[in-house]
Amino acid sequence: MAGAHLDEVYHLLPFSPVSGDGVWLEDRAGRRVLDFYGGHAVAVLGYGHPRLVEAIAKQSATMLFQSNAVRVAVRDRAADKLAAFAGSGLTRVFFVNSGGEANENALRLALRLTGRRQVVALEHGFHGRTAAAAAVSYGSDRGWYGFPALPFEVRFVPRDDVDALTGAVGPGTAAVILEPVQGLAGAYDLDPGFLRAARSATTAAGAMLIFDEVQTGMGRLGAPFGAALHDIEPDLLTTAKGLAGGLPAGAVLMRPEIARHLEVGDLGTTFGGGPVAAAAIEAVVDAITTESLLDNVRELSAAIRASCQVGPVESIQGLGFLLGLKTTPRAAAVRDALLERNILTGTSSDPHVLRLLPALTITREHIDRLATALGELN
Ligand code: PLP
Repeated sequence: MAGAHLDEVYHLLPFSPVSGDGVWLEDRAGRRVLDFYGGHAVAVLGYGHPRLVEAIAKQSATMLFQSNAVRVAVRDRAADKLAAFAGSGLTRVFFVNSGGEANENALRLALRLTGRRQVVALEHGFHGRTAAAAAVSYGSDRGWYGFPALPFEVRFVPRDDVDALTGAVGPGTAAVILEPVQGLAGAYDLDPGFLRAARSATTAAGAMLIFDEVQTGMGRLGAPFGAALHDIEPDLLTTAKGLAGGLPAGAVLMRPEIARHLEVGDLGTTFGGGPVAAAAIEAVVDAITTESLLDNVRELSAAIRASCQVGPVESIQGLGFLLGLKTTPRAAAVRDALLERNILTGTSSDPHVLRLLPALTITREHIDRLATALGELN
């Protein structure tokens, strides 16, 4: 049987796409499915976006790879574009390959530069599966963490509880890490007042604020990043998923005052910032900007809220195109019923929240299809 050697660690949906076009996926038999999930928030430009495809093809043909031992113009351009896109004081960029790796590096920097041993994280947060990232993911203390010991001290506080947060952050705290909208938790958007409190508590304690924007970044919230949306400047910001539109890529953005402490050899990676990924990052930023995709996200996010609270959907949480549809039946059942109607959505760690993470390019017509399909379910 084909695939007999692939580890079966994922729940597989009953649909196997062989191609994608815009926001549609197609299987071998010609069945077309409207993608509202974007491969876990990765396909920000959908499939086959001409600008992205051309940038990847051109760079692949010109120079597929070169390491960080030499200066590569496309990598420089990608970093410049990303910093300009982020728009805040996060002007220094270190490229990696994934969200977990970005968080691993950000946490290491915060612990090293502060010389402290404790990190404060939020209940229900998710930051990845590598040692440090998993340690700050909620549940690590309850046993799923696969390593024998945590690499540093972690304290989890309830989300949106300002008193608990300010009580937990002190002279031993290296960093607070959070997602402005908790993705895997079901697109739970943190209260802006709580985010501001995180900024002031970390500043007062001499600790660093890390925004994990692996899922919320690259325009998904209708702003370049959640930091820009809330007008909060974290010390470190991590991003990945949609960064290169589908190629593995991640980045740590930092304030220059932090980068100033870094010396040659402090950080490193073989593949991070490789030329093809860099060309893709450049193309993604250019497409988001020139095609006014942030406006599209804001406008159509409102349209989803207005039309999709129907059928099994009780309420909608989240921001932009990171939305959680609270469902009366189990979200997995709603996802399966929608897939039978040729619409792909995702679940979350909340059994009653269905997640939407569509490409930033979807149109009103696609939303109408989703609303109609939801309305047919009861
Ligand atoms: N951080 C957040 C907020 C995520 O949603 C994820 C993945 O879902 C990660 C980190 C880990 O990213 P990766 O799977 O690329 O390591």
